[in-house]
Amino acid sequence: MKISFVDLHAQYLSIKPEIDEAIARVISNSSYIGGVEVVNFEYNFSKWLGVDYFIGCANGTDSIEMLLKAMDVGPGDEVIVPAMSWISTSEAVSTCGAKPIFVDIHPEYYTIDEELIERYITTKTKVIIPVHLYGQPCNMTKIMEIAERHNLWVLEDCAQAHGTRWDGKRVGTFGHASSFSFFPGKNLGAYGDAGGMGTNDLAIAERVRMIANHGQKGKHNHIIEGRNSRLDGLQAAVLNVKLKYLDDWITGRQAVAKEYGRLLESCIGVKIPAERQGGLHSYHLYVIQIENRDVVKERLIDSGVESAIHYPTPLPFLSCYKENENKECDFPNVLNYSKNILSLPIYPELSKLDIENISNLLY
Ligand SMILES: *Cc1c(COP(=O)(O)O)cnc(C)c1O
Repeated sequence: MKISFVDLHAQYLSIKPEIDEAIARVISNSSYIGGVEVVNFEYNFSKWLGVDYFIGCANGTDSIEMLLKAMDVGPGDEVIVPAMSWISTSEAVSTCGAKPIFVDIHPEYYTIDEELIERYITTKTKVIIPVHLYGQPCNMTKIMEIAERHNLWVLEDCAQAHGTRWDGKRVGTFGHASSFSFFPGKNLGAYGDAGGMGTNDLAIAERVRMIANHGQKGKHNHIIEGRNSRLDGLQAAVLNVKLKYLDDWITGRQAVAKEYGRLLESCIGVKIPAERQGGLHSYHLYVIQIENRDVVKERLIDSGVESAIHYPTPLPFLSCYKENENKECDFPNVLNYSKNILSLPIYPELSKLDIENISNLLY
């Protein structure tokens, strides 16, 4: 048996003629930076998401950083982030000169525990960054209420949540702005690095577009010092093709999750992911909790099945945050579950037999 954790090649084969044609078109037009593919993707993705503006950029880390800058976040400011995420979420805060304030996660849903947020709000707090981790929606109703009460910005990190819904709407439409990553392995992945920013706020949209392109407003008119973080034509062409299939692929992921759930529900020592009521999980990752996680992971490898851990160390306890002196007693939920989590392969191309074989190895 050989089952990889992600299978980008299988997906490519299913849409090969269209992708090859799109890439060839960009090369024959030499529209490598900007151009019609980028303009079209920004428009197509904004429509798909349901926001007024979508601005492409180089990756899903830059997008968080540039949105924070557009919200005027800088030295002396605090930004609330969950204790479990990929490092980009907190890293982007620090890169702006602000301080990430970590909040423990909900014990069942793995996203920021909205009941704890207010305890961490100070006069320095400027932004809350909810992360829809693994494809699970955060409770955006509660988070927006808290933000309004304290006059804070909300920046949704949707890097793992293309297609996730809360209260019937796609996540990325609740906050003042949202950040997306199109890293190849994400629910919508380019063939290299890519990212983007969504918002209904014209001022934010104009500002991030300017920051991403050297602070220019029109050619050679540099209003501020910005940076170079652009979505390139080849990536946009790939994304335009793939966006048409995204909803079907998400349905495929949900079907795999359902099958795992059926097979693992009664497996002793395994806790299958809980879905938050009122939302729709897009299953970027299928994360179980399992006793003797490391032994099980080895057993899977011996049988040819790849798995992963997202993530082995909660953010507050990474070496780079040593100086923040985060205390273990403030993060019981994340510390408790991070020892047991295991991400199983999940993609639409996974066969029923593959899912059955993987599940059997957990019994
Ligand atoms: C992948 C990811 C990012 C960063 O995206 P890149 O495109 O890799 O920079 C940010 N936040 C989360 C939660 C992610 O999973």
